[in-house]
Amino acid sequence: MQAIDLLVLPRWLVPVASAGAVLEDHALAVDGGRIVDVLPAAFARQAFRPRETLTLPDHALLPGLVNIHTHSAMSLLRGLADDLQLMEWLQGHIWPAEAANVSYAFCADGVRLAAAEMIRGGTTCFNDMYFFPDATAAVAGETGLRASVGLIVLDFPTAWAQNWEEYIHRGLALHDQLRGQPLVRTVFAPHAPYTVSDAPLKRVRELATELGIGVHMHLHETAAEIEGSLQACGKRPWQRLRELDLLGQDFIAVHMTQLSEEEIAEAARLGVSVAHCPESNLKLASGFCPVARLLAAGVNVALGTDGAASNNDLDMLGELRSAALLAKGVAGDASALPAAAALHMATLAGARALGLEEEIGSLEPGKSADFIAMDLNRPATQPLYHVLSQLVYAAGRDQVTDVYVAGRALLRDGKLLTLNEAETLARAAEWRNKITSLKQ
Ligand SMILES: [Zn+2]
Repeated sequence: MQAIDLLVLPRWLVPVASAGAVLEDHALAVDGGRIVDVLPAAFARQAFRPRETLTLPDHALLPGLVNIHTHSAMSLLRGLADDLQLMEWLQGHIWPAEAANVSYAFCADGVRLAAAEMIRGGTTCFNDMYFFPDATAAVAGETGLRASVGLIVLDFPTAWAQNWEEYIHRGLALHDQLRGQPLVRTVFAPHAPYTVSDAPLKRVRELATELGIGVHMHLHETAAEIEGSLQACGKRPWQRLRELDLLGQDFIAVHMTQLSEEEIAEAARLGVSVAHCPESNLKLASGFCPVARLLAAGVNVALGTDGAASNNDLDMLGELRSAALLAKGVAGDASALPAAAALHMATLAGARALGLEEEIGSLEPGKSADFIAMDLNRPATQPLYHVLSQLVYAAGRDQVTDVYVAGRALLRDGKLLTLNEAETLARAAEWRNKITSLKQ
């Protein structure tokens, strides 16, 4: 018998690797933070001598969810301003609140609040874009989450940097500082075509290629963005970025609600990944990402919540359901984005967008042990005809009981193990008081 760290015995195991598969009475064997085997439970009991056994008789085990686009520190601005158009929301509310409040401490407290919410909701990996990415990296490290931390780039000054050269300089310093960190990586995060000019984008392309870092950027979020770009330079943002050589396999295009057939074909040819954020697009009335057409063209479409200021939660299970429902509505086809395809978007497609498809996104031997358990023996998910149907169309994040990243438990039986929830909530309340008093 082989000694291993952990044997997980769920009622159902959803590997995601083969679309639609649900294994019954299978075990997940974990050692040294990695999945060593997925096999029938009866064989596993004979083959392995685990130091710890996790028995989950009413649960489905699935890969940790990958949130491909968020601004985690913005959880402190959740509900500050709602029901406004994107530019009115940004210029009238979010940017002034940020100018008055954003600091290392604000970001660290915001990311801690986001981390508590993400872990409780089954998210094990997030791709972030915000100021003070050093704070995001520190909190990700402290809470055990896997993170891709955005090295934000803008033309205008903020508390993080004064000009684009300084944004890039500070980003590179953080990239160096994080070298050798197994769970926290960096990604370039030029904010959007309308906030970053050509010179910094050219520099981002050079450095991304040189250092092997990805690029994560808002793109074609609204029709007004396209209009503005046509007026400013006579090109759609997609064309402008393509001519700057920015679009490629290492590029994550966030939102993409306005797309021509040629742009969709080009996205597939260039290997660009799309970060689909349906709830943010709905809330800001930004438009509809043509998910079914992108998938049919062969584009990798992953799923993100966007920040909690425009969603207003970081609930990937909720996002998964919204994505599945919206895709059907937009395509006028109830068979568009079936449950298994939606789950793939929230797991393996996110891993692929981050260049981590060999590491996470599915439950397969050799991959990192990033997995979550959901209790399906609850009123919302009974009776149970199809596991995937319940997970995508009925289950809520309150049914997530256990969350592991690289074999380490972050949530056990509903209890957060790596952060102090009471203190995190108290800090969030303090920020709310400060932000409210400044507003008056
Ligand atoms: Zn965003």
